[in-house]
Amino acid sequence: MKVVCVGRNYAQHVKELSNAIPETPLIFIKPQTAVVKNNRAFNYPGFSKDVHYEVELFFRIAKNGRDIPADQAMEYVDGIGIGIDFTARDVQQQSKEKGWPWETAKAFDHSAPISAIRPLDTFEDLTNIHFHLDKNGTTVQKGHSGDMIFSLPELVAYMSRYFTLNIGDLIFTGTPAGVGPVEVGDTLEAYVEDQLWLTCPVT
Ligand code: ZN
Repeated sequence: MKVVCVGRNYAQHVKELSNAIPETPLIFIKPQTAVVKNNRAFNYPGFSKDVHYEVELFFRIAKNGRDIPADQAMEYVDGIGIGIDFTARDVQQQSKEKGWPWETAKAFDHSAPISAIRPLDTFEDLTNIHFHLDKNGTTVQKGHSGDMIFSLPELVAYMSRYFTLNIGDLIFTGTPAGVGPVEVGDTLEAYVEDQLWLTCPVT
């Protein structure tokens, strides 16, 4: 399986990093080795001194497909969860300056802790989901799924033009404003509609 992610999909987060609002989705992939399950710890990597949390809703692909039309995209999705897109911001900044790809900043081992996956019909309206992230008990990020620049069907359609989506792949949908650094000893807790779905200690 793979994790297909979108950068810059919430306007307030685009602004906080002084980036431009994208005209097409900014896509990147994390491999299976990035995924951490069952509330296991995130091991702070030795190659970075500025790892940031980015809390994101994600969706699970239920059917293999490519070139999926947006109006059929929801037939290809069956689950929802919340995860963290850990980003080595210092490595990413160097990559941006050199015009290099983002993999070493985004796709490294353990960079995608994920919650258990719930059925999609847990929610009546997927564009009306509140979520937030606490760091050491203080809320640092608050998001609402209706604020995405590119909607889930648009993302599935766009991503599947380039990459076949397979059963079990995960679609990360971007982070709202409030990203910031973690340190060893921190604990992150991700909530969906005020229910704790994911705990992530940093070790
Ligand atoms: Zn992200």
